[in-house]
Amino acid sequence: MMPTRPERPLVDVMAPVRPRREPIGTSVEGRLIEAVTFGNPSARALVLAGVHGDEPKSVYVARQLVGLLSNEPELGDRQCVVIVPLVNPDGYERRRRRNANRVDPNRNFPTKNWVESKSRSRFYGGSTPASEPEARAVMGLVARLQPQRILAIHSVSNRQFCNNYDGPALDLARAMSAANGYRVAASVGYPTPGSLGTWAGLERNIPTITLELPSHHSRQRCWRDNREALLGFIR
Ligand SMILES: [Zn+2]
Repeated sequence: MMPTRPERPLVDVMAPVRPRREPIGTSVEGRLIEAVTFGNPSARALVLAGVHGDEPKSVYVARQLVGLLSNEPELGDRQCVVIVPLVNPDGYERRRRRNANRVDPNRNFPTKNWVESKSRSRFYGGSTPASEPEARAVMGLVARLQPQRILAIHSVSNRQFCNNYDGPALDLARAMSAANGYRVAASVGYPTPGSLGTWAGLERNIPTITLELPSHHSRQRCWRDNREALLGFIR
């Protein structure tokens, strides 16, 4: 399922610092899933948001980061950062967690612990692993970019906000925590078969942070509280 050779280099060594926008795939309903690339490829960080369509604060924060790096390129010119602000555009359009096939993209990755779940569940992982174009777009990007670390921005209610980590990312989670004040969490407290964290962090050993924003905070406050944590992550 994953391409073993890059179709083409995602970043060009000689490329200027100006961000490049390119589609990495299309959603079930044909909406483009766009990646924004900054900097040179010496250190590669990947930031994802909008995996769940009902978590618009994650999309806002990722777009703020794109805006900040566009306006102040010196913040991002010593590393490569690829930002995908909206992984699940069909769900976002409806403000619904799952994609247009009613599959949770963050349960659709082909992990060893993937299980078929009830199709009416809001965590439905699809009929087969990697059945959904949104998960496959992320998988293809990871295969081409070979990121050294991944951060997926989500949001959560009931004061469960945290810097969750999978794989060798405890130090990254602690650094995030020092900047945003959220707790470090080795687990979100419930099983997540087929999640990006399991696929990339636990099974591929790519340090992976799941930043769970507090859904009761305004989107402006989420950005304000996480600006330095995000800049620290990409450096
Ligand atoms: Zn989420």
